[in-house]
Amino acid sequence: MTILTGIQPELDRHQLSELNVDLLSAVLRGADMLVSGDDRLANINHLLAEIGAVTQVSRVWVFQVLGISNTDILQDYVFEWANEKKYAQIRLPHFNHFRSSLAHPEYRELIESRQRGEYQAVITDQLPSSWLKRYLTQQRILSMLTIPIIVDNKWWGTLGFDDCEREQQWSESDVTLLRATGHLIASTVLKNELFSKQRQIDIIKDNTHCSTWQVDVQRGICWCSSEIIGDSSISSIRDSRTYTSRHWLRRIHPRYRRAFFSRVRHFLSPAGNELKMDLQVQRDNGEYTWVEITTNHDPKNKPQGVVAGVMWDISQRKAEEQALMRQAATDPLTQLYNRRQFASDLARFGDKARYRHQPLSLLIIDIDHFKRINDNYGHIVGDQVLEAFASLLEAHLPLHSNIYRIGGEEFACLLPNTDQQAAQHYGSQLCEAIYDHHSILDYSPAIRVSVSIGCAEFDAAMLDAKYLYQHADDALYNAKLSGRNRVVSYA
Ligand code: GH3
Ligand code: MG
Ligand code: MG
Repeated sequence: MTILTGIQPELDRHQLSELNVDLLSAVLRGADMLVSGDDRLANINHLLAEIGAVTQVSRVWVFQVLGISNTDILQDYVFEWANEKKYAQIRLPHFNHFRSSLAHPEYRELIESRQRGEYQAVITDQLPSSWLKRYLTQQRILSMLTIPIIVDNKWWGTLGFDDCEREQQWSESDVTLLRATGHLIASTVLKNELFSKQRQIDIIKDNTHCSTWQVDVQRGICWCSSEIIGDSSISSIRDSRTYTSRHWLRRIHPRYRRAFFSRVRHFLSPAGNELKMDLQVQRDNGEYTWVEITTNHDPKNKPQGVVAGVMWDISQRKAEEQALMRQAATDPLTQLYNRRQFASDLARFGDKARYRHQPLSLLIIDIDHFKRINDNYGHIVGDQVLEAFASLLEAHLPLHSNIYRIGGEEFACLLPNTDQQAAQHYGSQLCEAIYDHHSILDYSPAIRVSVSIGCAEFDAAMLDAKYLYQHADDALYNAKLSGRNRVVSYA
């Protein structure tokens, strides 16, 4: 046999008793080095040096596979220890990201054997004359041992031992120890890849304000990184916590719990392939904050009990949305709700009153002879009067009232859970309070205003709550007709 190859020699007692103790202790020292210090990859060089010194080969090297196709293989020369300077190859230009053709059948077989996880031991002189023999001879390599490095079940690269001074015969126990060395390198590479992924995630997270989470549905356990819900500003994915589902649900604002539950159930059903929901969660400091919870999965690959996703901090977006909504619903001069909000509240309160069999009343309040104020003092003073008038409404109407500016000098007050008699009473109080005001503005000349108010109560027989508005408006018309500065109820 010209190339010795296989997965893992089975060592019998005898072979174990003849284990190369120097090699074993070199491997153990190297293993120690791999877990100490920050620069794990540099430590691989130390491991190679330990082993090289004991085995007395000319060179120990590690190639990384960067890509492999049907026709060629791209590799990089990543680590090396050389017994003498003349044997060092790592910086040579032709070993930097080098591509080799798989056209030679022997080389293709060698690569396929490494992909299967097999080692190869070669004595150059014993090879039949072939491409491989020519290649090794050219490089003055008398013997070579290669051990595949397998990361995540895939051939990641090769650990190689070249001897240029003698024909090294490797015992089966040597091969076993060196395979273990390959595993050590593999786990260091994997750990390093995980750390660099971690760094990438940290960068993304630093720039996106999000947390990651995972739910083990079967065990009822949730895991969440603490960027959003934690107190500290220096938290990261490593600083994460595990919650029971019950504990986690308690973190969700009660208003969203039921909806969240049903969304999760739908997501886990055969029909669900995306979960996306805005909700409020409680931070460690007790405050609620807005988050968007998202996850999705490939429809062909349903989650098997574990769901993972991202939680985005959307408090800024929500604040902006709320400011916009508030802007769309308010009158810029008085900061009261506007006519648009009045129309939607009228319908909403009407439905609620009908459904709950509760009374609902409406006051329409119009400033008397407002045109004269504009005419006498100018439009700017007219505006100031409107602003001051809005404050008076807020001060003199009951707390549960909803106040709107529905026209130039026309206002409305929706009074849920209030019947017409009580509403008429509130209206009268307001009328008197405003008329009693010596001057609505704080400076002279004193400007006195009075109001006329129309009052009406919602009736469940009304097909539409807009009839409530019509009744109150009719009553207001009668208040104006009958002399102003008064409240008139719809009869
Ligand atoms: P009445 O007692 O019958 O209600 O008389 P009025 O003068 O209050 O009613 P009218 O409807 O004749 O006039 C309302 C005036 O309100 C006309 C308009 O110029 C003025 N007005 C409407 N909006 C504004 C505003 O935003 N600022 C100012 N300064 N005046 C406004
Ligand atoms: Mg008026
Ligand atoms: Mg008017």
